[in-house]
Amino acid sequence: MRESIIELRQEHPEYSISEISRLTGFSRYIVTRTLKEHGLQTKREHTIYTCPSCGKVVSKGVKLCRQCRHVTAICSYCGREIVRRRADENRAQKLGYRHRFCSKKCQALYMVMVRNVGK
Ligand SMILES: [Zn+2]
Ligand SMILES: [Zn+2]
Repeated sequence: MRESIIELRQEHPEYSISEISRLTGFSRYIVTRTLKEHGLQTKREHTIYTCPSCGKVVSKGVKLCRQCRHVTAICSYCGREIVRRRADENRAQKLGYRHRFCSKKCQALYMVMVRNVGK
């Protein structure tokens, strides 16, 4: 998975090509090419950028770190907290989904409950 190269770079701008190569198992040539293809730094970053939300080190141009890109929602049926990707949450909001479920089971139970109330 060449994505691991990109992820590693985005999370660790301070890593050199050889460190990424060692950690991902790809050759230095593949690592360099992959980074270039994605417009990412091939040289180790000296200026450290941090996530504005939690202060974790992120690569240049990244707005939020991976953790902060997630949001928590509450299951509409059982009330349990669900960790969702922020992008998914935004999409759900755009589509007008009002309910979030932690599992298919909760979704099904909720549907049954709503149907019974409607009677
Ligand atoms: Zn963060
Ligand atoms: Zn639930």
